[in-house]
Amino acid sequence: MSNRRHILNADAFDQLFDALRDAGYTTVGPTLHDGAIVYDALTCAADLPVGWIDVQEAGRYAVQDTGSGRYFDYTVGPHTWKRFLRPPREPLFEAIRSGAGVAFHAAAAPEETYALMGVRACDLAALGVLDAVLTGQTYVDTRYATRRSRAFVVAVQCARAGNTCFCVSMNTGPRASAGFDLALTELKDAGRHVFVVEVGSPRGATIAAALGLRDSTEEDWAAARAVSAATAANMGRQLDTTGLVSLLQQEAENPLWNDIAQRCLACANCTMVCPTCFCTTVEIDSDLEQTRASHTQVSDSCFHASFTQMHGGPPVRDTTSARYRQWLTHKLSTWHDQFGHSGCVGCGRCVTWCPVGIDLTAEAARLRASHEERA
Ligand code: SF4
Ligand code: SF4
Repeated sequence: MSNRRHILNADAFDQLFDALRDAGYTTVGPTLHDGAIVYDALTCAADLPVGWIDVQEAGRYAVQDTGSGRYFDYTVGPHTWKRFLRPPREPLFEAIRSGAGVAFHAAAAPEETYALMGVRACDLAALGVLDAVLTGQTYVDTRYATRRSRAFVVAVQCARAGNTCFCVSMNTGPRASAGFDLALTELKDAGRHVFVVEVGSPRGATIAAALGLRDSTEEDWAAARAVSAATAANMGRQLDTTGLVSLLQQEAENPLWNDIAQRCLACANCTMVCPTCFCTTVEIDSDLEQTRASHTQVSDSCFHASFTQMHGGPPVRDTTSARYRQWLTHKLSTWHDQFGHSGCVGCGRCVTWCPVGIDLTAEAARLRASHEERA
């Protein structure tokens, strides 16, 4: 590939959707539903939330139509790509009584082949986190691994930072530099509306070649990088990660956990919207004759009391304080011990979608201040 950057005119954007469909992909990505930007099936560029932005704060979310005609001026909403790659309900197997024995039938392998349109840098990092957890350990989630390896990733370089974004603090954005097949930077001014298209893989090169794109110029590339620099300079939030891994472990008994628990509803919203939370349980449904039992993997949350229920005793984490401490400490500290990196990518979803506006960047800062005051 002599030139890995190209220009796609916005009025030819549908050609990318057509090329992905011709290559066998089902394209999914952001679309406007019920006052939120959520991920769903896309057939053409007009299905995107054209001209819309989102406005986010702790515990608040709204969308606004700016009439700008831009395709990607919002950030991330309540959905994550887990919706497609690791759905909240997954059939595992059926156990069927057969004479004196039991026959086990594994669920059919996933057949979907997705093109993920509009993956932001934080969510690309989140996919890397999920890959490490679900495919990089002794036990591999084969259904996730199958969908993930097939998925074609079209990243979008953010042109706006939301008020709850802090990807710069987590070193995950705003510019995606690897892990995509194609990456788009939208450039729109009075004279033109184009995408700078970066090719990140042989699969991406094949699709780019099918579009017959012209090469980008150095000026185009400088303009694309300027978009990311401006976004980085406008992050809504910051998280000081210096020494945070050990600091949080030293603060396990800090009374601030109880203070947070006074506000926390243990509703689990923060875990449901988080692109890296991966915990599940297994539901078993059996028929009345007890001849057939279906086992289904279902998303679960460390905020649920039942999550640490042990046979014959109370839950291990039987207070909201203990559950919030587990969640925040795992994300920002013990995840490093387990997987060698943070479990938080700075997308800000948990801040926005917490109904009482609990903000992990603010709570981590308060724990740091308390720690330093005592020291
Ligand atoms: S913990 Fe919050 S900010 Fe971090 S990745 Fe999860 S939802 Fe995003
Ligand atoms: S921190 Fe917020 S979103 Fe998370 S469980 Fe508590 S109230 Fe719900």
